[in-house]
Parts: sequence; structure tokens; C-alpha cells
Amino acid sequence: MSEMMHIIQSTDHVYSFSAENEPAAQASPGDVVTFHTEDAFGGQLRSEADTLDEVNFDFINPATGPLFVSGAQPGDVLAVNFLHMETGSRGVVLSVPGSGVMGDEVPSSTTKIVEIRDRWIEFQPGLRLPKKPMMGVVGVAPAEKSIPSGTPGRHGGNMDTKEVTAGATLYLPVRAPGALLAMGDAHALQGDGEICGTAVECSACATVRVDVRRGCDLQWPWLSNQDRLMVIVSAETTDEAYEEATRQMVRYLVDARGMDFNDAYMLMSCVGSLNISQVVDPLLTVRAEIPHRYL
Ligand code: CA
Ligand code: CA
Repeated sequence: MSEMMHIIQSTDHVYSFSAENEPAAQASPGDVVTFHTEDAFGGQLRSEADTLDEVNFDFINPATGPLFVSGAQPGDVLAVNFLHMETGSRGVVLSVPGSGVMGDEVPSSTTKIVEIRDRWIEFQPGLRLPKKPMMGVVGVAPAEKSIPSGTPGRHGGNMDTKEVTAGATLYLPVRAPGALLAMGDAHALQGDGEICGTAVECSACATVRVDVRRGCDLQWPWLSNQDRLMVIVSAETTDEAYEEATRQMVRYLVDARGMDFNDAYMLMSCVGSLNISQVVDPLLTVRAEIPHRYL
């Protein structure tokens, strides 16, 4: 049977990851699915006169889906290969009192609307930033009953990891029949940390190929791109997150790659790295990385 193409519109969305969510569409392993996503504010911020005060928080972080992937069962892994990602032409960045790393020093709420061009973003006159679209929220139904779409975790969710972009494959632990994949909160550009709490927030259209892997149960989301293998861990503190991310990567080198523990630990220290994905969501997200060429 040949693969099928599916499209899920942004009006089909959820505000939580849960096995109880009604699927918006169904696909088979190997199928290609296009997710149209609204920005993290559900498009509520339309001009620079709109501030976060006017946003209805019942409608933030909409995640398009969920997609039921036939055959995916608890204990499997859902592979989500990002084939292509495009953004809308309008981006929103916010600086808000109380938000982000220096929230207590923000004098007033500011909304910046930026134009997103083919290759760059007009941040301000004379300052163009390179466009690198990524998806902030990507997840499946968790082992827990329900997790809000603004929270990251073992199921994925609001990981705000800039490497979740075209060309990368995200591996998510399946905990409910059909996996129930949903995504949203695209950024046309985001730096590690997402320091002020928002990046270039935008609508997007992501085309992915979904696949199901059996017999490789994962505890956390893993990500692979052309260069590197990464494990993405979220916790109450960055200390907890980087310790668990390191443990996950070293255990992988030992268990799956057959390395001696000390060699794996030393290799991680020599060529691996720990990076902060975001420090602004309900849990903080760190990723441990190692280049494929040393594996
Ligand atoms: Ca986010
Ligand atoms: Ca966002």
C-alpha cells in the first residue's frame, strides 16, 4: 500500500496532551502529514497595541491534532521526521514584566510585530535576523492523564528546542494507542534558553513523515539531525535536567552502542555537549548532544 498524504488544519487543535483527546485525523506508519499551526497566542495579538494583558489564557499554546497513528502502541516509539517547515509572514515577540530570566526588570509590556520574509526576519530597521523555523510544542499523549500544552516532559510538549526543525527526526515514547501526535507554537527563530519567554512566535505549516519503531522503549524524547544525536530532558531545575540528560546519553552509549562506561563518560566529556533549550516554561529543558561521527 502506498503512503498517504494528510492535512490537519489549525482549527483542529487541543490545549493538552491526553489519551482522552479525540483524534483529528488518522494516518498509517510511513504516511506524510501536514500540520497547519496557529501561533502560541492563538493569533490573539494582532498589532503592537495588543499586549499580553488582553490575551485570554484559555486559548494559548494550541497544538494542532491529535493525529492517531495506526499500529502505535504503548512501549513503541513514534518517529516524526520533519520534511519541511514554513511560517506565516507575521511574527510576534513580547517583553512582559515578570516573564523570562530578567522579568523583574522589565519596565512595561511591549509587543513587537515583525515581518517574516523568505530568508530573514526584520527585527528592527537595519537589523535582519536569519530565519530558522522550529516547532516549540510537539508531543504525544503522556502516561499521565493529561498535561497542558504549555508544559514539557517525557511526552515532548512545550520543549522549545530550536533543533526541532526541517531535516530532524524527533522520537517520542508512545504511551497511548495511536500515539496522538499534536504540535504548535512555531518560532521563525529562537535562541537557546528562550530568554525573555517568547521567540519569533508565528503560525506555521509543518510537513512530517510519521513512523512507528518497536522494541526500543524510550524514557525521554530523542532528536537526530544530520550532525548530532540529542536527548531532551525537562525538570524542575536545570541541574536536574542536565544530570538526567547526561545519564540518558551515557547509558545509551553503554547499552545500545556497547561502550565501556568509563569510555562513554569520557567520550561525552570530550565531544558531547549540554545545551539549554529553554528556561521559561513550567519545567526547564536541557539537551545532551553527541555528534553522530563518533558513534
Ligand atoms: Ca513555547
Ligand atoms: Ca512560543
